Amino acid sequence: MELTDRIGRVHRSLHISVMDKCDLRCTYCMPEDATFLRREKLMTRAEIATIAGIFVERYGVNKLRVTGGEPLLRPDVVEVIRDLSALPVKLGLTTNALTLHKHIDALWEAGLRSVNISLDTLNSERFRSIARREGLDTVWANIRLALLRGLRVKVNMVVMRGVNDDEVLRFVELTREHPVHVRFIEFMPFAGNKWGRERVFTFAEMLGHIGSVHSYEKLTDDPNSTAKSYRVPGWPGTFAVISTVTEPFCGSCDRLRLTAEGRMRNCLFARAETDLLTPLRAGADIIPLIEANVLAKHPMLGGLPPFRPESQEEVLHDLSIRPMVSIGG
Ligand code: SAM
Ligand code: SF4
Repeated sequence: MELTDRIGRVHRSLHISVMDKCDLRCTYCMPEDATFLRREKLMTRAEIATIAGIFVERYGVNKLRVTGGEPLLRPDVVEVIRDLSALPVKLGLTTNALTLHKHIDALWEAGLRSVNISLDTLNSERFRSIARREGLDTVWANIRLALLRGLRVKVNMVVMRGVNDDEVLRFVELTREHPVHVRFIEFMPFAGNKWGRERVFTFAEMLGHIGSVHSYEKLTDDPNSTAKSYRVPGWPGTFAVISTVTEPFCGSCDRLRLTAEGRMRNCLFARAETDLLTPLRAGADIIPLIEANVLAKHPMLGGLPPFRPESQEEVLHDLSIRPMVSIGG
């Protein structure tokens, strides 16, 4: 059986947040006044495995991504990865990589082969002002370490006008120097992140800027990919743009999300959630809840109006009910 929504999209990908806290406090992701869950509210290792097992075995979900908050802050993250890598799925981890060196051997041994690492700047001072703490050297060293150990590495850069848009070409250069896949992400609106249309450095601007210096070629994307991929011919790495704001890809979206406290979300921008964990703990059947959640998925952007930067319509700043740190990207 498949998880099909009311416009016929089949959902095969689940992002699981395993930790709501983080050791960075990126301005675009975590509000100054963020609050965190008590430990007993988080899904346990066994609960994560049970819920993920239902999505995979019953509904044919074949991609799992472990995320957060910062997943590596979870003491049993290696065991969680081991449980999930035993399922017939493509498994990934999204991390800020601040402590990756401590876990990399154990994660590899547990079955992890692919990692998305967030890095928005190669300038230490700027890193401090975006992430509100030091860390560039460690993160960069851990990107190199991950490559050295043979992990597939994607680098996620959130591009914000006037903050780090002048580093796009430098990040493209990384694909000349290393076999990494750099993903430029348009700045998205979430609760408490002071989003504004004027701060979105758009997909078109990124490609225009890159194209003024390099001749790049388009690569074939997976049918459900959120990213449009490119490469400079002859370079070992590739790059992509995720254009959620100016060119949403909702029509082919196959992603579902589970928050660290076991609430299911059918869209990053969903305003409704389904608590799976409380019923699971009470011994109830969560199958009808999962199916109802998928059926309620809106065709676009969780039912929000398009938030194109050039739109004349006024849009609210906080278009989401949650900050990204507690949704899981
Ligand atoms: N802590 C991990 C990390 O930073 O990779 C995992 C969680 S983080 C919420 C997941 C991804 O969401 C990161 O790549 C981050 O850059 C991205 N993200 C967070 N806030 C965003 C925003 N407002 N717009 C676009 N991407 C965002
Ligand atoms: Fe933490 Fe990742 Fe959000 Fe930065 S983007 S605050 S590292 S969860």
